[in-house]
Amino acid sequence: MSQTKGYAAATAKSPLAPYVFERREPREHDVVIDIKYCGICHSDIHQSRGEWSDFQDECIFPMVPGHEIAGIVAAAGSKVTKHKVGDKVGVGCFVDSCRTCVECKRDLEQYCTVQTVWTYNGRDQEGNPTYGGYSGKIVVDENYVLRMPDNLPLDACAPLLCAGITLYSPLKHWKAGAGKKVAIVGLGGLGHMGVKLGRALGAEITVLSQSLKKLADGKRLGADHFYATSDPETFIKLKGYFDLIINTVSADMDWNEYLKLLKVDGSMVIVGIPAKQIPIGAFPLVTGRRSLAGSAIGGIKETQEMLDFCSKHKVACDIEVVPIQKVNEAYERVQKSDVRYRFVIDMASLGS
Ligand code: NAP
Ligand code: ZN
Ligand code: ZN
Repeated sequence: MSQTKGYAAATAKSPLAPYVFERREPREHDVVIDIKYCGICHSDIHQSRGEWSDFQDECIFPMVPGHEIAGIVAAAGSKVTKHKVGDKVGVGCFVDSCRTCVECKRDLEQYCTVQTVWTYNGRDQEGNPTYGGYSGKIVVDENYVLRMPDNLPLDACAPLLCAGITLYSPLKHWKAGAGKKVAIVGLGGLGHMGVKLGRALGAEITVLSQSLKKLADGKRLGADHFYATSDPETFIKLKGYFDLIINTVSADMDWNEYLKLLKVDGSMVIVGIPAKQIPIGAFPLVTGRRSLAGSAIGGIKETQEMLDFCSKHKVACDIEVVPIQKVNEAYERVQKSDVRYRFVIDMASLGS
């Protein structure tokens, strides 16, 4: 066991504060990663504040959040072949799974039917709590560690590990590409990656944002069109327009209004995760053979494919780097949609 410094929430009502905990000794297939950067995902806020407690088996405190982890391999177990000391690597939302179920065999470990081991607020195969990336180092099985792009800054690539893959996976699954009209609802951490990745895949991209405040940014990021959802005209003008809508918003909103913006056979994919149940009427679905679906991150194979795609197309995240001491302030700003477009913690600020 080795002592690791990090930041944790002691309870769902506590701000994050310094916390020292133990990481396991590396096993033969483990790599030890010196964490350089960790993105702040809205899911970190939901979980450290217990907002999803109705839907999760348990909330484990103290909680060290963070699942957009980028760092350098500091040590490798004797049987590690995929990564070596000095490599730029990443860890996303999960660090293990059963490896034998039908979904693991299909490279969809995030939907493992036995147990996906979440990077934090989860339990490993031995039942010990997992701790995330707001910390100095992490020990992870090599099969759940990703190679980071060599040609892009490591800090701007950290959020690809969650925000990037969460948009890439449904864009690919629902075949966003040339000739497809795609809407991204909410221009936050996930949404801005939806714009960049959707554009790189060749789709026509429309941002549906609460207001026109982010219009110039949306266009700069690659959006073809930008509309305010606070304007009722938007829902009249865009009726029946989209092949695919990806909804990243976690606030309470009327999904029925958005379903009507789909063409016949169009799909709306939910990736934002509201704590409240949202009622759906049959009419907007039935009257256009439309689908409402959901999607969670992506498997290891697809996450590596996304990182390689980003390297090839020079796609990284727009970030604001903060020291760990400002994490609670950053949380408040994310809550107010005051982030352009992802906070990334510089882990050097933890000190040695
Ligand atoms: P974020 O950076 O806070 O972005 C959310 C965006 O939603 C905001 O920037 C804002 O965009 C919009 N929004 C906020 N309040 C709203 C309101 N009251 N009404 C309408 N729109 C509102 O969050 P994020 O990190 O992108 O995460 C978004 C959600 O996805 C969270 O629920 C998170 O837990 C979830 N998530 C899911 C997965 C998955 O695998 N499915 C993975 C990661 C995160 P505008 O200002 O442009 O309107
Ligand atoms: Zn996330
Ligand atoms: Zn499995």
